[in-house]
Amino acid sequence: MRACVIRAGRRGWKVGEYIDTVFTRLLTPALFLSRLPGLASQCAVCRSWPARQVCPPCVSRFAAPQSRCSLCALALPADLSMGLRTGHDVCASCAIQRPVLDGALAALPYAYPWSNLIARYKFGEQPGWAGFFAALLLKTPGVQQAFADLTAQDWLLPMPLSAQRLQTRGFNQAWELASALARQSQSRAQADATLLLRVKHGRPQSQLKRQARLANVRGAFLIDPLRLAELQGRRVLLVDDVMTSGASMFAAAQALREAGAAHIAAVVLARTAPA
Ligand SMILES: [Zn+2]
Ligand SMILES: [Zn+2]
Repeated sequence: MRACVIRAGRRGWKVGEYIDTVFTRLLTPALFLSRLPGLASQCAVCRSWPARQVCPPCVSRFAAPQSRCSLCALALPADLSMGLRTGHDVCASCAIQRPVLDGALAALPYAYPWSNLIARYKFGEQPGWAGFFAALLLKTPGVQQAFADLTAQDWLLPMPLSAQRLQTRGFNQAWELASALARQSQSRAQADATLLLRVKHGRPQSQLKRQARLANVRGAFLIDPLRLAELQGRRVLLVDDVMTSGASMFAAAQALREAGAAHIAAVVLARTAPA
């Protein structure tokens, strides 16, 4: 009898919590509005009203074009962009050791306010930001061209999450971004979230130092063994929200290269500053 009461009590609490959660979510204006692209809302940075997710003055202020390494998208020092370079727009580290990637493009610095907004998108269950971020990326010099270079046999692949991380997070932010990019660019390429797989569930890269990051992702990526032929001689555009050391991106590119992809480039929303 006592157990019955407890169970009933628990169930009552669960139902209450469920209703509360559903209503709180429905009534959270930021979340509600972020899922309705094009509807007037407050700028998430300066709070001006009405605005899209981020108003044009804030975008101009915080997303100014930046000269970046053509192979890893690392921001190049201003003095190197003023004519002292020898015609190669690559950073020192790529000049010493060429990465597996054939090219990389980034829209934003991974810094205020974008780091906060991306965290909100990634961990705060606000996938509605994907459309806004995709539009920002498509305005970045070189990105439209990267999409135009893809044929109907080529691939637009998001950086995959392990099945375990996908289950805890509920969605892959890179896939949401890749889907929005495919729609907005009207790319002919095939967007696919199951060709490139993450088979190792390591610790989140953000918790590790550089050397540990490299070790953490070694052997972490695999191409679906039944679909290897679909990659032979193809171009691949890898999509991710944030590129930090590049260790994950390079490991994924290595797996694609070994599987026969002919050209592998990366398009990332934000890139960390040089260490
Ligand atoms: Zn603003
Ligand atoms: Zn570089």
